Amino acid sequence: MANRAYNFNAGPAALPLDVLQNAQKQFVEYGDSGMSLMEMSHRGAIYEKVHFETEALLRELLAIPEGYKVLFVQGGGSTQFAMVPMNLLRAGSAAAYVATGSWATKAIEEAKQFGEVAIAASSEADSYKRIPAIGELKVPANAAYLHLTSNETIEGTQWTEFPDTGSVPLVGDMSSDILCRPLDVSKFGLIYAGAQKNLGPSGVTIVIIREDLIAKPEGVVPTMLRYATHAKADSLYNTPPTFAIYMVGEVLKWVKANGGAAGMEARNREKAELLYDTIDTSGGFFRGFAEAGSRSLMNVTFRMASEELEKQFVKESEAQGFIGLKGHRSVGGLRASIYNAVPPESVQALAGFMRDFQSRNG
Ligand SMILES: *Cc1c(COP(=O)(O)O)cnc(C)c1O
Repeated sequence: MANRAYNFNAGPAALPLDVLQNAQKQFVEYGDSGMSLMEMSHRGAIYEKVHFETEALLRELLAIPEGYKVLFVQGGGSTQFAMVPMNLLRAGSAAAYVATGSWATKAIEEAKQFGEVAIAASSEADSYKRIPAIGELKVPANAAYLHLTSNETIEGTQWTEFPDTGSVPLVGDMSSDILCRPLDVSKFGLIYAGAQKNLGPSGVTIVIIREDLIAKPEGVVPTMLRYATHAKADSLYNTPPTFAIYMVGEVLKWVKANGGAAGMEARNREKAELLYDTIDTSGGFFRGFAEAGSRSLMNVTFRMASEELEKQFVKESEAQGFIGLKGHRSVGGLRASIYNAVPPESVQALAGFMRDFQSRNG
């Protein structure tokens, strides 16, 4: 397709062109059903096949072990900020969190509404430029769970290894890096991710939950906000976002055809290294925001000498077809989100633009 933008949006974000084109072919009539998938009952055989195939593919690509349920829910990662404490906190227990940046902070603020929150570690004093070392974590004995944000989308930091938390379930917000690399799911009690960064369009949120955590919550929790409701009904308790789930399935097929989680990691490392190299070899013209050991494969954040120069960079980049490079309003600077679907060619074009911009303004 001509005129396709170099899309570095943070979310919703780029989708594979093949996936979009294939979905377009199936948009008006799905197979020979005489209707669009969007017009079908979620109780019918055709949709059910899509639903369970999408789940099976996710299980395969993330190597999700036995003993875990995969749920498709709505409300985004933001609703999970509440559902996690509502379902997992018990009287006398505390919710432990690692404060790594903007998204972790939102999860923490939400959890405080439901009970006692303990901060197991924080990098706030370092402006969230780094992920705390595993040795820094202090998990209280009465922790109902330990929550971490595997990738801080706004600051551009990412965990590289996950702690062993023993009997304390580890909960991961993987909204912006799920399936960017192979993952040992067995380290986690619960993983959640809104689809719109790495898995598909907005509208569906993936929850991977160990079966022993699907207990009846304490106190009053609305039916729709209980994991047990969705687990018992295979995410068909009420009408699921059928088209979004279909699109996730199509993206997962694309991931599988491109080497699975390991293939994504190789592709993502190559893309990220190219941008970080461009930053690091710029002699200080571009300055990476995240500390070297905490740099994200998904969101490359950087600054320039002045806000004026950053504004000019964004303006010129847009004129050349680059979209989404302005940093989040809360931290400023620049950010290139390079999720799984962002093609290496877009990243090569961006690196070229950065060098060119420096040669004209350095
Ligand atoms: C985008 C994002 C969220 C919020 O997702 P919504 O689906 O918009 O609620 C939560 N956590 C992280 C890490 C994110 O990147």
